Amino acid sequence: MSKKGAETVKVVVRIRPLSSKEVQDGHDAVCHVHEDRGLIEVFNPKNDASEPPKNFTFDAVFSSKSTQRSIYDTCAAPIVKSALEGYNGTIFAYGQTGAGKTHTMEGYPDPPEMRGIIPNAFQHIFDHVALGENEKYLVRASYFEIYNEQIRDLLSKDPKNSLELKESVDTGVYVKDLTSFVVKSTSEIDHVMQAGKKNRSVGETLMNQASSRSHSVFTIVIECCSSDDRGEHIRVGKLNLVDLAGSERQSKTGATGDRLKEATRINLSLSALGNVISALIDGKSQHIPYRDSKLTRILQDSLGGNTKTLMCANAGPAGYNYDETISTLRYANRAK
Ligand code: ADP
Ligand code: MG
Repeated sequence: MSKKGAETVKVVVRIRPLSSKEVQDGHDAVCHVHEDRGLIEVFNPKNDASEPPKNFTFDAVFSSKSTQRSIYDTCAAPIVKSALEGYNGTIFAYGQTGAGKTHTMEGYPDPPEMRGIIPNAFQHIFDHVALGENEKYLVRASYFEIYNEQIRDLLSKDPKNSLELKESVDTGVYVKDLTSFVVKSTSEIDHVMQAGKKNRSVGETLMNQASSRSHSVFTIVIECCSSDDRGEHIRVGKLNLVDLAGSERQSKTGATGDRLKEATRINLSLSALGNVISALIDGKSQHIPYRDSKLTRILQDSLGGNTKTLMCANAGPAGYNYDETISTLRYANRAK
C-alpha cells in the first residue's frame, strides 16, 4: 500500500567520496552504495568483516561517483519545474558537518559541472522565463538564516537583527520585514546569493573550522502572469532551498556553554523537521507539528498539501564517521 505523502516527499541519500586527507590517513569507506537498488550497506568498523552490514533503502541513493547534474536532474528539477508552474516546494540538505550539504546545494561555480542544486535551479528558472512568449514572470529572492531559533535577514543592512514571525489569515506565516529583491537574470540572483552569504554566522567547532551552526534558507518566489481570451491569470510558486545546520550530536563536537545551548537548539529544530516530514509521508496523522520550530513554521506553506519536498541526506563514508552516518541514515529513514 502506498502512503499518501510518498508522492510529494522524496528522501534520498548521497555519500560523498573519501577526502584526499582521509585516503592519506588510511581510512576505508564503510558505506557501500547500490544505486540500482536504492540501497546503502554500512559496515561497522568495530565488528569483524564477517558480520552483516546494516541496510537502508531510500527513494534514491547516490554514490561517491554521482555527479551534481544527476542529482539535479533526478531530484531537484521536478521541484523547480513545479515551482515554475505555481506550486510550492522545498529542498533540504541534511547531515553532519563535512558530509557534503553545501557541496550538494551550492557546489563550486567552475567548472560548471561542479555547480550544485542552487545555481542549477537559478539557470533552470531563467532559461524557462526566457522561453515564455505569452507569459510574464516576476522573480523575487530572499535569503535568511535561523541561528539559535532567531531569524536573520542575510540581505538586510543589519543582518544581526532578529526578525519576527507573524501570522495572518490572508498570507499565513511570514517573516516580518524580510528583504526581497526582484531579480531578472541568473547572474542577478547569483549576485544576491553571494551578497547574503557574506553575512552568514559561522561558528568554529572541533569537527570543522567553518561549520555552519545555522539553517540557511534561500527562497525564490516566481509569479507568472499569462493571458488568454478569458482574461489574465496569475500563478505564484515558491521554492525554498535549505542548507540545514550540521546534525552532529553535541557530545562529539566538544561544545560547551553557549555553543552547547546552540547545539541543543539545532538538534531540537532538526528533530521537529523530521517529525513534520514523517507525519506528512505517513499521511495518516491528523496533526502535523509545524509549530514546534521556527523553520517548520516558516516553511509550513511549502511542506505538505500541494507541494513537493526533497530531503537529501548527506553522509561521509569513513569508519570514524560510522556513528554519525548511522544516525543520519536513521533520520532519513524515519523521514522516508
Ligand atoms: P557540509 O556543508 O555538510 O559541512 P561540505 O559540503 O562543505 O560539507 O563538504 C565538505 C568537504 O567535502 C568539502 O571540501 C567538499 O568540497 C567535499 N565534498 C563534499 N561532497 C562531495 C562530493 N560529492 N564530491 C566531492 N567532494 C565533496
Ligand atoms: Mg556547509
